[in-house]
Amino acid sequence: MSDLKFDNRFLRDLPGDPREGGGVRQVHGAAWSRVDPAPVRAPRVLAVSREMLSTLGLDERDAADPAFAEVFGGNALLPGMQPYASNYGGHQFGHWAGQLGDGRAITLGETVNAAGERWELQLKGAGPTPYSRTADGRAVLRSSIREFLCSEAMHHLGVPTTRALSLVATGEDVVRDMFYDGHAAPEPGAVVCRVAPSFMRFGHFELPPSRGDAPLLRALVDFCIRRDFPHIDADSPNAVSNWFGEICERTAVMVGHWMRVGFVHGVMNTDNMSVLGLTIDYGPYGWIDDYDPDWTPNTTDAQRRRYRFGQQPAVAYWNLGRLASALAALDPDVAPLQAGLARFVEAYEQAERDNAVRKLGLGRFREGDVELMEALLAWMRGAEVDMTLFFRGLIDVDPAAPDLAPLHDAFYDEAKREAGEPALREWLGRYAARVADVDPARRRGQMREANPRYVLRNYLAQQVIDRATAGDASGIEELLDVMRRPYDDQPGREAYAQRRPDWARHMAGCSMLSCSS
Ligand code: AMP
Ligand code: MG
Repeated sequence: MSDLKFDNRFLRDLPGDPREGGGVRQVHGAAWSRVDPAPVRAPRVLAVSREMLSTLGLDERDAADPAFAEVFGGNALLPGMQPYASNYGGHQFGHWAGQLGDGRAITLGETVNAAGERWELQLKGAGPTPYSRTADGRAVLRSSIREFLCSEAMHHLGVPTTRALSLVATGEDVVRDMFYDGHAAPEPGAVVCRVAPSFMRFGHFELPPSRGDAPLLRALVDFCIRRDFPHIDADSPNAVSNWFGEICERTAVMVGHWMRVGFVHGVMNTDNMSVLGLTIDYGPYGWIDDYDPDWTPNTTDAQRRRYRFGQQPAVAYWNLGRLASALAALDPDVAPLQAGLARFVEAYEQAERDNAVRKLGLGRFREGDVELMEALLAWMRGAEVDMTLFFRGLIDVDPAAPDLAPLHDAFYDEAKREAGEPALREWLGRYAARVADVDPARRRGQMREANPRYVLRNYLAQQVIDRATAGDASGIEELLDVMRRPYDDQPGREAYAQRRPDWARHMAGCSMLSCSS
């Protein structure tokens, strides 16, 4: 573990806060504040990602070393680590919120592996920072398990995401009011080490211009291009527009994947949007069970449902608009930024075409394919049908001579299944005509690669959380192991690929989550 090499460019190349340590404050003219993780009583490793260990040049022996729990629980530093919290702002639920920053995340440093890849190691729940505002800088076990598992599950699903190296129990309680109803209670605390090439967010670029600080904005943009987008010539007059256009494109690709796999982020505030187009900040996220584009798991957003499943592409576009407005402080000519936003629209349309073709196994795109998918989704919405099970079952339906048995398990409501059958048969007729000249084996193969059999259903994660809270953490790596091969049928693991059980329908943690974490 002590072989990890660090090269901390964010600290070296960007201006920092002259004051060190915690103490809540407004930080002007600086991108970061030096602050060490606050020690915890009894750090204990609950789970690690072996893929992430190996990417960093570590192995399971390192993870078993007591020093690993000390470092990734926040009690010790390796040579070369220089912990800091970064400074950013953001639009929350449509409103400018001012300075937010890493209130409970502390970056340990940027490690460079043998392949020359740069990976930032960041502890979440590591204690107070200048950006903690009124909160404690800590994280509870339940939300940490959710972040650990979903980061890795998304990676295995092929969705761009930040990663997770480890989950460490702190041996300390954290007090939370889970439903903001005056019932605060102690819960076990934990620290996740998350990993990404960069944790820079839209909000990093929004904060300086909100304070009239164009030089800091310029420095951040220049830094981000040079470190994270090295293929863009930072000295070219088009650097900013090329960079922004690529952010737009990557964001469209990311959201396209969310829509493909049925992921609802839950809190798409601009401080939770990565400029690398990575899914970031796993909070009250959820997975679609019965297909409902109006669904959001986030109880804090239950009224307006701003961040509901079907709204995610539009919200991503709105968020990019906020980033564009921030960047306009650098150059009064906004045409290049508008061109960037147009790249989002184009890339998202492409993602919709890809999703239709791949999820339905259509071979190559033809006019009308997106409409074919939209017709199916409209039907699914009324039929109360499980998104994951339906698409997976559709693989085994012969559209030319449909036997609907493979779809049977996907329905939540028998009456709706019967009522929906004529319309489904009609749609299958259109589908049969479309795939008439597609080789059936090709159709099935294409579908198998785009429609996961296993997703991190909310209730599955909650069962693991309940077990871990009761003292048995082994379910975390068990579930992670299922999620390693989400597109494969895994004999013996059928229990992980079932409809949400009825008891979970309205249960806290399974269908409803608050931001309290
Ligand atoms: P989130 O809703 O998790 O994206 O958090 C929004 C802001 O609140 C970010 O600046 C977080 O760092 C901060 N924050 C959330 N939870 C805590 C906490 N327990 N302690 C300190 N800051 C927090
Ligand atoms: Mg956040």
